[in-house]
Amino acid sequence: MISIDLHSHTTASDGTLDPVELYDRAQERNVHTLAITDHDTVAAHYFLRDHTPEGNIRLITGIELSTTWSGAEIHIVGLNFSLDHQDLNMVVKAQGESRRKRSHHIAERLARRLPDWNADQIFQKVLEGAVEQQQNSSHGFILKPDEVQIGRPHFARWLISEDRCNDMDAAFRKYLDNSKIGNLKAFWPRMSQGVSWIRALGGTAVLAHPGKYRMTATKLRALIKDFKLAGGHAMEVQGSNHPHSQVEQMARYCREFNLMASQGSDFHNPNYPWVDVGRLPPSLPENLKPVWDTWK
Ligand code: AMP
Ligand code: MN
Ligand code: MN
Ligand code: MN
Repeated sequence: MISIDLHSHTTASDGTLDPVELYDRAQERNVHTLAITDHDTVAAHYFLRDHTPEGNIRLITGIELSTTWSGAEIHIVGLNFSLDHQDLNMVVKAQGESRRKRSHHIAERLARRLPDWNADQIFQKVLEGAVEQQQNSSHGFILKPDEVQIGRPHFARWLISEDRCNDMDAAFRKYLDNSKIGNLKAFWPRMSQGVSWIRALGGTAVLAHPGKYRMTATKLRALIKDFKLAGGHAMEVQGSNHPHSQVEQMARYCREFNLMASQGSDFHNPNYPWVDVGRLPPSLPENLKPVWDTWK
């Protein structure tokens, strides 16, 4: 069976495998086309370019941009752009700065609830945790502290290590969801901006996991329409664990708005077996145009 996975994460953002480990896992699981789409960074791709792993996977460049639309945080996956594009660094730098400011804001909000800690201490601890995770890499994938893209999962891991909660889910529920941590959306560019950046890089702009935004059908339709009119190319129709009814609904939107279809597991961590690299239905619903057909 041929398997195509166009959404996955490494330790360059909030994944737990380094780029070579992810590649090897994908190889073992018969993935033949893999896009690594870390949050707001392409560091894994630069690394793999210099440390080509053994195998025959077709690697697609990718990034998952955090953006906002109508009060919601929307993720735009950019695929198949050139790592040598002269404007790529501008995009990554802008998103990195936003993410860094946002992380300081999260640290400040957490410090109000944890009297033993101040914001700078929390930020340092969380960053150290992310760097430590990279130092476990058996393949030498170690970024400088200012290159690691810190997000809420890194805060969650620190809260767990401090015995403030038992698992990621509890950390998000108790400390990190949007109602607890303030307006995290304010830090990100608009969705239309994210789409134009991907287009400017010559990439394919994909609306990530549209089923995850917890919107009414009316609002989701409005989102997809705005995405299309902003110049978006495709949307993710299926992932690792999506209910059949949702896949069919996304397929209908794809046809209605003449968007291409993408698919990806959104793999982060081998400890969650129901979301694994390459764990996808064997084919797309009928009458859809797969994004990968345009890359031949
Ligand atoms: P951030 O990039 O800081 O907005 O963090 C969002 C990331 O947190 C997502 O990409 C997921 O990987 C992860 N995430 C979101 N909600 C949860 C949750 N309830 N439990 C565990 N991880 C989560
Ligand atoms: Mn993530
Ligand atoms: Mn996402
Ligand atoms: Mn993702």
